[in-house]
Amino acid sequence: MSAPAPGARPDPALFAEVVGQPDAVAAVVAACRRPVHAYLVVGAAGSGTAALARGLAAALLCPDGGCGQCGTCRRVLAGAHPDLVEVERAGAALQTGEARAVVAAAQRRPLEAARQVIVVPDVHLAPAVVPVLLKTVEEPPPSTVVVLTAETVPPELVTLASRCARITLREVEADVIADWLVRTGVDPSVADDAAWASGGSPGRARLLAADPTLAERRRLWRSVPDRLDGTGATVATVASDLVAATDQSVAALAERHRQEAESAAERAESMGERAGAARKALEDRHRREERRWRTDELRAGLAVLAGAYRDRAVGGGPVGAARRAAAAVGLVEDAARALVRNPGERLLLQALLLRLGEPSPSAGNARALGGPAVG
Ligand SMILES: [Zn+2]
Repeated sequence: MSAPAPGARPDPALFAEVVGQPDAVAAVVAACRRPVHAYLVVGAAGSGTAALARGLAAALLCPDGGCGQCGTCRRVLAGAHPDLVEVERAGAALQTGEARAVVAAAQRRPLEAARQVIVVPDVHLAPAVVPVLLKTVEEPPPSTVVVLTAETVPPELVTLASRCARITLREVEADVIADWLVRTGVDPSVADDAAWASGGSPGRARLLAADPTLAERRRLWRSVPDRLDGTGATVATVASDLVAATDQSVAALAERHRQEAESAAERAESMGERAGAARKALEDRHRREERRWRTDELRAGLAVLAGAYRDRAVGGGPVGAARRAAAAVGLVEDAARALVRNPGERLLLQALLLRLGEPSPSAGNARALGGPAVG
């Protein structure tokens, strides 16, 4: 197997999935002329770190330096090349045993290509295993390239980061995501909705764009202020509707997970791999992705709800009503922040709706906005 010709430039098509990051892609394309032993891709969740890592791996493994056409490029981009090792952790963060497995994998010789690429995601979550990884990242065997990804670089990661060529992804603006969706054939109004609800994640936006119930869910969230009538029974009904809509939103992701599990099973069978551990790792990742999806979905819904109250606050009408609407925006935004700490979704929504639905003090009710919440 020959190494890529020196000076070969990867085809930018390898980075077609990396949306709204022209600077980072240009930096990677230029850097591939002289590959180094380790890279650190830094970017927020959903900003495209995983897609960038795959494009980089294709450029490093393809015999032509990343032609974008050959079987190697296609298999790497699909995550199905034996010399692309994408580390799947079992728990929330990489454990010491898993980090040791990375070190061992780095010592192996590539199977097909001139190199192997090991991608270790989310190292910002695993400062405890940095000492295990450090030597391998500093000086892997000549035929191994390590690609780390992280959302941030906390102090514990600075030494490790200093041993890598760093590539930084920026947050992707909603209109950039919407333009990209339109270019891939999505209807402009659907693209706008999906981009807006994606929280800056192109991957999530694409799934949302294919989801015919997205507009319906936005209407549901927007209708909440009109439905609340100050009764606990209505609060319970509305909260149930919102939770059910969130359940429904996971369907698109679940379908993608089902396809992934299917092709992983076929791959394992054709390569005679031990399927058990890989399947468990995949299932764990799917669970984490689903959790994150739900949080993003609720956050997007709460943003729609805050928007509905904001419109009321500036929409004229009695001064008291405008003031109440403005206070409601604050409550909704507090709830969105609380969501990150992840209490039960339903309880959080019920507590919020109860406070939003409290009758106006000016209507003669003593209970003010900010009264006790259900727990
Ligand atoms: Zn190629």
